[in-house]
Formats: sequence, C-alpha cells, structure tokens
Amino acid sequence: MSEQQTDDELRCIGCGAVIQSDDPSRPGYTPQSAVKKGLATNELYCQRCFRLRHYNEIAPVSLADDDFLKLLSQIGQTKALIVYVVDVFDFNGSLIPGLHRFVGKNPILLVGNKEDLLPRSLRRSKLRDWIRQQANMAGLRPVETMLVSAKKNRQIDLLLEKIEKYRQGRDVYVVGVTNVGKSTLINQIIKQRTGVQDLITTSRFPGTTLDKIEIPLTDGHLLIDTPGIIHAHQMAHVLSPQALKLVAPQKEIKPRTYQLNPEQTLFLGGIARFDYLKGQRIGIVAYFDNNLLIHRTKLANADNFYQKHVGELLTPPTKDELTNFPALEQEEFHVHEKSDIVFEGLGWIAVPAGVTVAAWVPKGVGALVRRAMI
Ligand code: GDP
Repeated sequence: MSEQQTDDELRCIGCGAVIQSDDPSRPGYTPQSAVKKGLATNELYCQRCFRLRHYNEIAPVSLADDDFLKLLSQIGQTKALIVYVVDVFDFNGSLIPGLHRFVGKNPILLVGNKEDLLPRSLRRSKLRDWIRQQANMAGLRPVETMLVSAKKNRQIDLLLEKIEKYRQGRDVYVVGVTNVGKSTLINQIIKQRTGVQDLITTSRFPGTTLDKIEIPLTDGHLLIDTPGIIHAHQMAHVLSPQALKLVAPQKEIKPRTYQLNPEQTLFLGGIARFDYLKGQRIGIVAYFDNNLLIHRTKLANADNFYQKHVGELLTPPTKDELTNFPALEQEEFHVHEKSDIVFEGLGWIAVPAGVTVAAWVPKGVGALVRRAMI
C-alpha cells in the first residue's frame, strides 16, 4: 500500500483504529452504512466505540499474536496489576504462551471465568487449586486465583475487591484470549460502576493501532481492557459460527459416564473421536455440551462408520459444512495417572491410570493430556 493510500485511510475518532467493514472481530470494524452516516455527520466511530459511547457496552475485539505480544511487552514496561482471564471450560485454550515473560515483575491476578459451566458437585476450592497448579506449570505465579461467572454475575464484587487489594495505586490491565468472556466481564464491571460511566474512554497505545478501553478507578488510575488474542488452535477456526454455538456449552455440564471395553470408539458428534485402545474394562467420564451427541461403535468399524455417517448421524458439522471441514487426525496417549484427554475448545474425557487411548481432532485443533480436573 502506498503512503498516499495510508494517509487516506479512515480512522475511528474514538480509538484511532483504521476503519474496516470486513471483519467484526477485528479493530476498527464499522458496518458500511455506519461509515456513510459517520462521514456525513463528521463523527466517525468504529462500532466498538459507538456502542461504548451510546450503550456503555463493549464488544469483543481481537488481535493476531504479533500485535498482541507488542502490547504485552508495553504492559511489561509499565507498573500495573495484570488481571488474566481464562475460561475454566477451555483452560488450555486460554493460555497465552509466554505471558510470564512479558508481564515483567507485575503481579498477576488469575481469574477463571465461566465457573457456572462446571458441575456444582465439584468443590470450588479444589478447582481453584487445580487451576493454580496448571498455571504454575505454564510458568505463572499468580498472586491469587479466583473463580467468577461474568454471565451470571457471580463473584464480581469480590473480584473488584481483590483488584483494589492488589493494584496498590497502579493501573490494571485485563488480558485474555478471545472468547474467554473478557468483554462480558468488563461489561459487568462497567455496570457496577455506573456512577462514572460517562468517563469511560477509548484510546490508543502510542505508536500502534491497538485500541484499549479505560475505566477510571477511584484514585485517577485506570482499569484497561485490551483486545483478546486469537489462538491459532481454537475450534473457532474449523467450525462455522452455527456449529460453534452448538458445541459451546451454555449451561452447567452434566458429566456422562461410559463403561468401555478396549477397542471401542466414541464419536463426539462428527467433530472428534475417542478410541479406547488398550487396558481393562474401565469407566470414563465425558465433559461436553449436554446436547453434543456421543455415539459408541467398535474401533474396527469406526473409520467406515465415520465416512458413512459424518454430516448425517454424526453432526455437527452438517452436510453443507463438510466441504470446509478438515479431516480428523489421531494422537495417541499412554496415561499413567488419572487424566483428562482434552479436545481443545470442545471438552474432555476423564480416564483412569494405566490405559492407552487415542484422540482424533480436526487438523489444526489441539488434543492433549493433562492431570484430571475432577
Ligand atoms: P471475549 O472474546 O473474551 O471478550 O468473550 P465474550 O465476552 O464475547 O464471551 C464469549 C462467549 O462466552 C459468549 O458467548 C458469552 O456469552 C460467553 N460467556 C462469557 N462469560 C461467561 C460466563 O461467565 N459463563 C458462561 N457460561 N458463558 C460466558
């Protein structure tokens, strides 16, 4: 692109992002009709800033890794409290690689969101310990780990108290991968601080086009919402938005238990597959959206069965979505302690020690083993 064209680029007068009408999840998105109106009235705001100004509501916005790392290193150079939001249902998909290196000496308050999705029978103190331990394995030493539900407005008061406790006169940066519920959380915080709502501003990180949203705190410091980072392995990249809605749980997960013999297969809709390869007869527990079809077959017949029924009996994906749906790839796991086999973004299956299993996921989506959560 030439200099001249760059100068001609339209920018949002709220956050400075370059106006574009192609991708609602990227900075600067503005529907074409709104661009026309904005130009006519000389008040061209991107959709995110427009919503913020008129409805006091923020919309999610995301960035690819490089820009996000730039942003993180800027945060590392300032004194701040980092509020790191993860999705407890997709914990591994929520991890920001290298976060611990980028935040510098700044303290991290780790917030596990969407706790409403996990079975109520799971003790919350146990869940917190598990999250803390997993965070430690990723190199993070949070000052505290909390569980909240942004959607159900659970523990948000407590979160605000903890933020006050740990920020000690510093600014607060809220960071997270896309889809962990960061926008929902920020909107709850905005609601709780209605007295100052008209003071909320958007602004730009100097030298970049990254927008951030600033919520004033009591002492002139700011709570700053940053764009979400897009994870390359997210299920969102292989499933259509409709299919994604079908597999993303909205309600408390009801664990489903199966007694399996070796050489049996479970299909998870047509999206993924679990093979029990070697071991005794075992009980496994599946944690997926309650409406996701789990279908059992014999391992020997599984390939044929999939070819024949994907898009019909085994959905999602639907028949129409099959053309763009990647082939399933297999990864084998030998499990030595009680573990979760994780199908990233979809859910997990808890298996006992001493078994060999395989997880099949669409090419580009991650499968992994971790210490059992429950
Ligand atoms: P962001 O990309 O991190 O800003 O995520 P959003 O705030 O847009 O939320 C992503 C999805 O997660 C939306 O469908 C939300 O309704 C949902 N969500 C957010 N918070 C919660 C929560 O506490 N519980 C549940 N069950 N869903 C949530």
